[in-house]
This record gives sequence, C-alpha cells and structure tokens, in this order.
Amino acid sequence: MPEPAIFKATRIANPQNDGWLNEHAVITDAGGGIEAVVPSSTLGDTSGTKTYDLGDVSLLPGLVEAHSHVHVSPDLDGYANITTETDDRMVMRAAGAVRKALLSGVTTMRDIGSRNQVVFPVRDAIEAGVIPGPRLQLAGTPITTTAGHCWMFGTEADTVEDVVKAVRGQVKLGANVIKIMASGGNFTPTSNPRMTQYPAETLRAAVVEAERLGIYVVAHSHATAGIRNCIEAGIHQIIHCRWLSSDPTVALDYDPDDASRLADEGRWVDPTIGLSILGEEARAAGAPQRRLHWGIAAARPSPAQTIEVLRDMRDRGVRYTTGLDMGMAHADYDKSAYNAIAFVESLGYTPWEGIAASTSVTAEALRVEKTVGSLQSGKIADLMSVEGDPSEDIRALAASTDVVKGGVPVKLGGKALI
Ligand SMILES: [Zn+2]
Repeated sequence: MPEPAIFKATRIANPQNDGWLNEHAVITDAGGGIEAVVPSSTLGDTSGTKTYDLGDVSLLPGLVEAHSHVHVSPDLDGYANITTETDDRMVMRAAGAVRKALLSGVTTMRDIGSRNQVVFPVRDAIEAGVIPGPRLQLAGTPITTTAGHCWMFGTEADTVEDVVKAVRGQVKLGANVIKIMASGGNFTPTSNPRMTQYPAETLRAAVVEAERLGIYVVAHSHATAGIRNCIEAGIHQIIHCRWLSSDPTVALDYDPDDASRLADEGRWVDPTIGLSILGEEARAAGAPQRRLHWGIAAARPSPAQTIEVLRDMRDRGVRYTTGLDMGMAHADYDKSAYNAIAFVESLGYTPWEGIAASTSVTAEALRVEKTVGSLQSGKIADLMSVEGDPSEDIRALAASTDVVKGGVPVKLGGKALI
C-alpha cells in the first residue's frame, strides 16, 4: 500500500521531459499519486514524512514499453517454448518477465500478443498485488490467418465475420487494444513476411469494430503491401513497418508518399529498432543467431538501408513509439532502454527526445498520457532512476538504480525489494 513520501534526487526530469530540475523532490500522496515536485530546499521539516534521499541520480518517469510478448522466452528457443510448453509453464515464465521489466524501470507495458490463458491472469495477479509487474495494457492473442504469423498464440480468423468476432472476443476478455497481423512474420515458418495476410477490407472491419468498442488497433506488417492495406484500412498503429518488397529478389519497396500519408493521418509506428541493436551486439559477442525461415531468406535490406528509411519516415513527420518486441531473440524484458538508445544512436534523436519517446510520447500513443509518462502533480507516482546523466549518455538509461510504482518503492539503491 502506498504511503505519503518524499523522493529527493540531484536531477529530476521536468514535466516536458526535456531538461533537469536540479536538487528537487517528488512528493507523493497516500493514493500513490504525485502531489507536487518542488525544490528540495523548500521542503521544510520533513520529519513526519517517509523521506527517500536517492542522492546523485537522474530521476525520471517510469519507462513506457509498447511491445512485449510475455509468454515467450527471449532466447533462440522462443519458438520451441511457444509450440511445446503448457499454459501453466508460460504463466510462470510471464510472471518472471513482468517482474524483470518492472525492476528495470518499466512501469507501464503494452503486451501485443500473448496467449489469452496466460496474459489476462497475469494482469489480474499484478492488479491484485499477488505478483509484481508493470501496469499492463493487453491485446491478448493477436488476430491472424489460419497458419498465419503467430497462429500458435491462439486466434486464427480468416474472413471479415471471423475477424469481427475475434475482436469482440478479445474485448470480452479485457483487451485494451487489438493486435492484427497484416503480413507474415519472421517468427512463424508457415507465414511469409513479404506478403499480406488480409485484404484492406478485412483490416477495416477490425478497425470499425474496435472503434465501436472504444479501443484501437495495432497491426504487424513487414511487407509494403501490408502497410498499404493498413493505411487504406485506417489502422491506428503499425508495428515494424519494414517496407519489404513482395518480390523475394528485391529487398525494399519503400514509397515516401505512403510514409507521408502515415504522418499526415497521425498513425503511430513502432520501428522495433532497439531489437536491431541488441541483435547486432549479440552477434558481435559471438552469440548464436536465429535461423531465417524460407520467407525471409532471400534479399534482405541491410541495417543501413533500414535506418535510412526510418530516418526518412521521421523527417516526413511519422511519430515513433517504443517497442522492443520483448520475448523475441535477444530482446529480454530488462532491455526497454534500448528503444531510446537506438533512437539516439541510429535515428539521430537527441538524448532528451529518446527519453521522451520512452516515457511521455509513448504514453500518448497508449492513450495513458493523462496518468503516466511525466513527473507532474496529479499523475501516478511511477518513477525510475539511473546513475549518471542519460541526457549526456543515453546508455545510462539501461541500468536502473531505483524504481517506484504507484508511490511504492520496488527497488532502492540497486537492490530489488520484490
Ligand atoms: Zn512482436
């Protein structure tokens, strides 16, 4: 249970997440909210209030991670685990994953594709205080075609009628967001990442039904043809957005006009670029690599080509969310900081823009910006701190020192309390 408290730090992120307030304190209330952020020198007598002097750290809003799959192990056996393990085992795996994410500083997390039998009970257990974890937004199982990308997660739907029924089914289970697979994917050998899975008309039916029920739709697409269908259908957010050509001898089929349309229509994109850096680092360290399946083993864009396209999309005004794709190979649950690291090191963001992307900006994409994502009076007291100054060196974000969820410390001075 939260109790009123004071968290003092040398540097505290300002409400815009673009500069420091030096020697300030976050005052929290009995409901786990932020009462005020004030200069420490104005606190007066604090002897009656629990006070945490966090010292020479950078105190930030808790990270907002937009893309996890908590039932999958983030190693090369992920496909084997999802195709052979029982739901009970996956629940236990997921419980470990959400704890790991929370201790790394992630206090809000959107899971966009885990088995319904796993992820809804895990969220219930977190909300009941049975296990520790971030605030979860859930899609439950993604909607995919028969044998399509991630079919083994549980919801195969082929026709407009099937898809509408699947959207309603996920909402009934408690989904905050619908995930649909607009193209095949790298994880699923029976799918083709270069090709569409649904015509635009079917994707549109999912959008109309989700909007009727007050939620939104995120769509996975590597394929340019799938991205075009998403644009046509009014899909709210696109995941990966890799512009792969349907011709296996050609790597990319990028159309800047399509990117401008995404920007003009306010569609968010999760470029899953942090995963690329983690994959490159694992390769450089000699770690085994995942084998590519038939659908992607042909011409592939180089990392430099992918980055050039993502930079052009950003120049055209496309807004990026975080989204590590936690659970895929090398994307462990404590690596959310790699979203911001990749935005800075690969896409040319300033460190503060990277920090904002990992907090307030993605909170807006997840439609929770009124409650989390910045340190301001009236918001939930979700905090994380790191040693050093991530506005100077964004890699500092990768090692959390303190984590507070809803006013309750779960990690202090590098030591887990949960
Ligand atoms: Zn994913």
